[in-house]
Amino acid sequence: MSKSYDYDLFVIGAGSGGVRAARLTAMGGKKVAVAEEYRVGGTCVIRGCVPKKFMVMASDITHQIEVAEGFGWTIEKASFDWPKFRDTKETEIARLSGLYNANLSKAGVEVINGRAVLKDKHTVEIVGTGQTVTAERILIAVGGRPFVPTFPGSDLTITSEEAFHLPELPKRIVVVGGGYIAVEFAGIFAGLGVETTLVYRGPGILRGFDDDVSAHLTREIERHGIKVVLSAEHTAIEKTETGLLNRLSNGMELETDVVMFATGRVPYVKDLGLENAGVALNDKGAIKVDEYSQTTADNIWAVGDVTDRVNLTPVAIREAVAFHETVYKNNPQTVDHTNIATAVFSQPPVGTVGLTEAEARKVCPGEVDIYVANFRPMKYAFYGAEHRMLMKLVVDATTQKVVGCHIVGDDAPEMIQLAGIAVKAGLTKQQWDETCAVHPTAAEELVLLKEKRVVEQLP
Ligand code: NDP
Repeated sequence: MSKSYDYDLFVIGAGSGGVRAARLTAMGGKKVAVAEEYRVGGTCVIRGCVPKKFMVMASDITHQIEVAEGFGWTIEKASFDWPKFRDTKETEIARLSGLYNANLSKAGVEVINGRAVLKDKHTVEIVGTGQTVTAERILIAVGGRPFVPTFPGSDLTITSEEAFHLPELPKRIVVVGGGYIAVEFAGIFAGLGVETTLVYRGPGILRGFDDDVSAHLTREIERHGIKVVLSAEHTAIEKTETGLLNRLSNGMELETDVVMFATGRVPYVKDLGLENAGVALNDKGAIKVDEYSQTTADNIWAVGDVTDRVNLTPVAIREAVAFHETVYKNNPQTVDHTNIATAVFSQPPVGTVGLTEAEARKVCPGEVDIYVANFRPMKYAFYGAEHRMLMKLVVDATTQKVVGCHIVGDDAPEMIQLAGIAVKAGLTKQQWDETCAVHPTAAEELVLLKEKRVVEQLP
């Protein structure tokens, strides 16, 4: 480090990406600080993946009780204590945040509790303290924030960030949006016994996912009691004596207790001082970076959701590692953003990797073969429940490579992690089929799909 700087690396934001980059760089012998304005751990640990998964686990117990009764158990009394769960969850999140803090300290990273803004390309101010520090290099990893459209009454809504801390569970909730967060929270609330309506502006939830996934999941969540309202947007929300009246563009009026908007997240770049440092935004309002995560300022990099590439924790971590390798280990690395397996923790959950059928039909030069299994897993068939599972493989007919795998049903997130290896490795349908089934499992269907789906030819 040049003697004129306080730090070799200053990281803004102690979430998944920032923490990983800070630790690796400090462990490599550099002088590193990380500033965090809220709690160490970031979106994933504090108000995202981790607390959400606990909520899914709590909620899913409703379905396990149904299964238990189907298998002959008598459950005398089942009731859910939201404050008890919420507080236990908070304790666990605090423990995890503490672990992140401890690991940073152990690596020799200085943690600054405060909001950092850029004064110039080497100088950062810690807001409210009057303190400014300098760094040879800066990494911006500040993540995203919920976006809620503005309309009359939009100030009466909450987002997922408040949903984690509700003082009490509402009797009724309207969840707005059709993406990951909306679908996940609709499932959470419905499972916890809240009368749940999902309102989405498009014709099918989970836009961008395979159409069969969207249609199948819609049927299944409706079976779990969620009311799904499609092709409708909010025009207003009004307070009434008994709750909140939702006025929708299709003329529907719905009264509820809580309205949660999950209409996307946007890069958290406001008032960060980017213009002082020559850091430009792209046309989507995210920090513009090259394939090495370098911004338009040559000593400043950015990783994770603030760059709006693929907004997932493991991707932010990979981007952070690649930054570290490139900048501090003379080993230039980029992150391959294709074929990233992902899961939606809806109930039932979704696991997906690779191309959807529609995408494959656009990018594959020849035909596309589709294999689909839609069945009742033995657990549900046993007691006559109707819950169905979907598995779908998308195959490039020319190369016979499996280019997409899509699963809706129990354990789909666990399955897709492994199926993701095969898709990423570019294995062929024949190689999948040569893999012997594990019996009796649901996953065995993935290696037993024989019949191609016949696509009806349009006249
Ligand atoms: P998404 O981008 O997944 O979904 C946003 C939804 O809001 C879409 O259905 C979109 O509709 C809708 N929407 C956007 N603007 C409006 C508007 N003005 N009025 C009405 N509806 C609107 O965002 P999420 O907030 O669900 O999640 C943010 C990101 O976080 C995800 O993209 C994902 O990367 C990550 N995430 C990952 C999770 C996981 O891995 N399990 C869990 C949660 C989040 P349309 O489709 O028509 O554009």
